[in-house]
This record gives sequence, C-alpha cells and structure tokens, in this order.
Amino acid sequence: MMLAVSVSAQQQQRKMKIYISADMEGVAGVVTGEQLGPAGFEYARFREFMTLEVLTAVEASFEAGATEVLVSDSHGNGQNLLIERLPKSVTVVRSWPRPLMMMQGIDESFDGAVFIGYHSGTTNPEGVRAHTISSARLADVRLNGVSVPEAGVNAAIAGHFGVPVIMVSGDDAAVKETQALLGDVEGAVVKWAYGFHSARTMTPEAARDLIREKVQRAVRRIRDFKPYKIKTPVTLDVRFKNYRPSEVLAYLSAVERTDAHSVRFVGKDIVEVSKFLEFITTYEPGLEP
Ligand SMILES: [Zn+2]
Repeated sequence: MMLAVSVSAQQQQRKMKIYISADMEGVAGVVTGEQLGPAGFEYARFREFMTLEVLTAVEASFEAGATEVLVSDSHGNGQNLLIERLPKSVTVVRSWPRPLMMMQGIDESFDGAVFIGYHSGTTNPEGVRAHTISSARLADVRLNGVSVPEAGVNAAIAGHFGVPVIMVSGDDAAVKETQALLGDVEGAVVKWAYGFHSARTMTPEAARDLIREKVQRAVRRIRDFKPYKIKTPVTLDVRFKNYRPSEVLAYLSAVERTDAHSVRFVGKDIVEVSKFLEFITTYEPGLEP
C-alpha cells in the first residue's frame, strides 16, 4: 500500500502553468498599421500569423512540460486571435477593459509568463511601433522613477503574484529592452527595426521555429528565472502627449500634477497602478453601454 502510494505520487506529473500575453506589433512581418487593425489591408492575414506565433508558444510550452496554458489576447481590440486554431485545453482572455490589462487572469498559481509579439516602449528611440500602452496618448510611463515599456509593467504585475517572465519575442529593440530590465529571459528576435515603420523581418515560418526553440528552452529551465518585484507602494508617473488629461485628472485628490503634461499616482501595489492605467486610457464620459 505504501509502495503503491509513493509510485503513483512519482507518476503524477507536477503541475506547471504558463501564462502567454500576446501583442501584435512584434509579430514577424508587422511594420505599419496596415497589419495591426481591422481597417488595415493586411490585418486578416496578420491576425493569422499572430495566432500561429501564439499557437507555437502554446505547443512549445506543453512540449517542454507545461500542464496548463492561459492566453491573453492583448493587442488593439483584444479580439485578434483566431481562437478555434488553439488547442481545446487552452482558455483565452479577450477584449477590454481589464483591471490587469495585458496580464488579466494571472495569479499565484502560474509558474512563468511568456510575452509574444511585444514591442519597445515609448521612450525608446528604436523599435517598430515603439509605444507604451497608448501610442496616441502617452509619452512616458514610469514605475518608481524608472521608464518602463509594456513588458516592464506586465513583468511587475506577474512579479506581484510571484511569477517570473521567462521569454519574450519581438523585434531586436523590444527583446534588448526587456532583457535589460528583466535580465536573462529567453528572447526570440524575429525582426530587426530600421525605424518606427520599417524593419528587416524573418518569414512567419522561420519566426515560429525560433519561438518554439526559445519557449521550450525557457520552460525547461523555468527554475532559473526570478519574479520582477518592484517596491511598494508603487509611484506611477504618466506623461500625456496632450495637455488636458493631466489638468483634469489632477482634480482627483489621489492624483498629483507634476508638470503641464504629467501626473503622479501612488498605488499600494502594482495592481492598483494597473487599474489606474486602465482607467486613464479607457474612461470617457460618453462610454456606452
Ligand atoms: Zn499592440
């Protein structure tokens, strides 16, 4: 009896949960808005390429030992991934708003986070479609004084739940910036930026081969990675491209206007900061329904 119990315990596979946050600007081949939204003439094809990069990351996670995968569709309208192409075992987070933005659904039960199709941040002079959260509205996002790209905000959210980022894919600027912030995460460079709207890119198939290799390697050495934990309370500084958002937000007692274009919000943790970021990029009085 004792023996039977110990054998079955050995045979029982250890649970390993992977969270995949998927953006689109860093997908192989993407260079302009023509690939990035429903109005673009190449969008229909490129949402397929995005889906296939995510599918590859899902498959690679399972191949390397993951037992559960959650995917968040975290670009544009949040309805890009062709969900029927993903395996039945996967669930998908879709559309907005979400309190944890591009990391909605993550919690302490996950073992690692993978970022697919990521791009560099708005203060980076390099990278295809470099921006942070809103290319039209925000000129800088700082956490505790440090300018961060979306990968940094999202790594801090994962870190809040004790989950390390283990892999990122995107252009060379995005991967370099993420590794500079987070350390030795696996990186798949699928294109090389010449400018905001130009790059030399891998083909979709070659990019998927690289993503498969890097995700597998990351999952196999998942114990090497440390969660990105930032000090609490968390001071968020946001610089708007326009003038009036900072003027009006500063009417709220929790918000301080730090210069003509900037506000500061101090959250007890990154979750509060995430909700504040989602609020200021979502709210308008005409919201319906
Ligand atoms: Zn995006």
